[in-house]
Amino acid sequence: MGGEAKPAQVAMEKKAEATKEKKPVTNKIKIGHVHMSGCTGCLVSLADNNLGLIKILDDYADLVYCLTLADVRHIPEMDVALVEGSVCLQDHESVEDIKETREKSKIVVALGSCACYGNITRFSRGGQHNQPQHESFLPIGDLIDVDVYIPGCPPSPELIRNVAVMAYLLLEGNEEQKALAGKYLKPLMDLAKRGTSGCFCDLMYDVINQGLCMGCGTCAASCPVHAITLEFGKPQGERDLCIKCGSCYGACPRSFFNLDVIPEFENISEIIAKALKDGESDD
Ligand code: SF4
Ligand code: SF4
Repeated sequence: MGGEAKPAQVAMEKKAEATKEKKPVTNKIKIGHVHMSGCTGCLVSLADNNLGLIKILDDYADLVYCLTLADVRHIPEMDVALVEGSVCLQDHESVEDIKETREKSKIVVALGSCACYGNITRFSRGGQHNQPQHESFLPIGDLIDVDVYIPGCPPSPELIRNVAVMAYLLLEGNEEQKALAGKYLKPLMDLAKRGTSGCFCDLMYDVINQGLCMGCGTCAASCPVHAITLEFGKPQGERDLCIKCGSCYGACPRSFFNLDVIPEFENISEIIAKALKDGESDD
């Protein structure tokens, strides 16, 4: 059977060619989702990017590891590992997995407040009674070096998507793209460097006392022990109640606020919008 290609097929080929040319760089990166002890809410948030996620997986990243979505049983080499959940010290397999993830990944991202600070999993005690003070579930930064934090319970789909695009540009982009990606990621890298502790005092020192609080109340809503109340638009903490779970710090949109990045926001938004544009022509 031969013959000329049908018009629809020609149009599809042209569209594919146009899409290919619009990629800012050529190589795909390898991304994995490593599930520790968490509720899977972060993965749901990642999937909530819908078409944006498909676009990323089409053109920018291969999903090489994800127990729920990819049939791969052993942790492979990865450019970016998104780790969800904290690590249960009683589960030796998880402890080994997190160490192997570090060894095999260029960039380790703590995805969500459980991976960053322990969050609500600090209440858990491997199938036993709830024990807020029990520390058998640790944030991943207590066991390995972490490069980037994406806080939130769960983090917003947009934030996860933006980090994926920026990680791609950081690893595969030209010098200008690398510099821009570095600027975007810096506040989230600084959060990772800051460590795994998070309590109301940190929120007080880093956000409220710096005049960055906008009175949104997210911290109060995220506190599992109701240690925070909003009085006249300002959060007040009951320090005796605080179990140092870090939930409020991770949930506060101003805890990773960085004035240095503001002048670059237009540039960054443009680059992300371009990366996610679904094969449409700029013409
Ligand atoms: S104030 Fe509440 S949310 Fe914040 S660290 Fe303490 S217990 Fe966790
Ligand atoms: S979440 Fe942050 S910005 Fe919002 S009220 Fe709490 S401290 Fe202020």
